[in-house]
Amino acid sequence: MSWLRLVIPIVVMAVTIAILPSCKTAPASTKAILWERELGAVAEAPISPNRAHQELNIKVDLIPKGKYGRRIFRRMQARYITIHSTQNPTGDAYAHSKALKRGALRGGVVGYLCWHFTVQDDVVIQHIPTDERGEHADFDGPGNRYSIGIEMCEHRGNDQVATMDRTAKLAATLMYYHQIPVENVRAHYHWPREGYETPNKNCPHFLLEGGRPGTNWRWFVGRINRHHERLVAYNEYLREKQKQEERDRHSREIVQLPCLHRFTCFGAFT
Ligand SMILES: [Zn+2]
Repeated sequence: MSWLRLVIPIVVMAVTIAILPSCKTAPASTKAILWERELGAVAEAPISPNRAHQELNIKVDLIPKGKYGRRIFRRMQARYITIHSTQNPTGDAYAHSKALKRGALRGGVVGYLCWHFTVQDDVVIQHIPTDERGEHADFDGPGNRYSIGIEMCEHRGNDQVATMDRTAKLAATLMYYHQIPVENVRAHYHWPREGYETPNKNCPHFLLEGGRPGTNWRWFVGRINRHHERLVAYNEYLREKQKQEERDRHSREIVQLPCLHRFTCFGAFT
């Protein structure tokens, strides 16, 4: 029917116009868009693990062996990475390191809290080796038994966006060294604490929405993934470089072969 040919396009256009504004404004309102804009896209060039490690600026300041959070030695094979935030407006990474080293933070199964790294905008501080278990997530649950714990600082004056990106780089480098897949990077939220009224903690709170992982958390994991891809790409770059060097060596050997018979080399009529 000819009137249908006229009406259908009008209806389709009206529906499209009605939907378009909401599609356009919803993602732009998320914090993740602003964070990504502030940081800029993750570079695509391959990066060596050594270089990535240097850029992290890791200061090793371990809790003394046999004391406080390390009073019992418990070996751990890391399968996960757990992301926290300190919710402490006054303590920077150095202050948290001091507190852990004097046993000031009580809790957990051994009586003292401990985790592996604290990150602020310009530095990462390591508190326990990555092959030792921490006390930061879920008492005797898998979060403590199998994960490397990272705390992001929130003290006043700290650049929160830079802290998130340094944390993403640290998580990517740990994934690379410990062969941990990106789906095993978890928010503290993911490890329920038995016996608590709200077992799934709202942590790291500024990356969660309504106390749960959503768009912002997915952005953060995406950022980790892109940093990790640069490290993986470095392996491919090395393989290609090695192949090229072999090809170059091979062609040099051919050029340097002694000319045993000049007529064979240059042709019988030269
Ligand atoms: Zn936490």
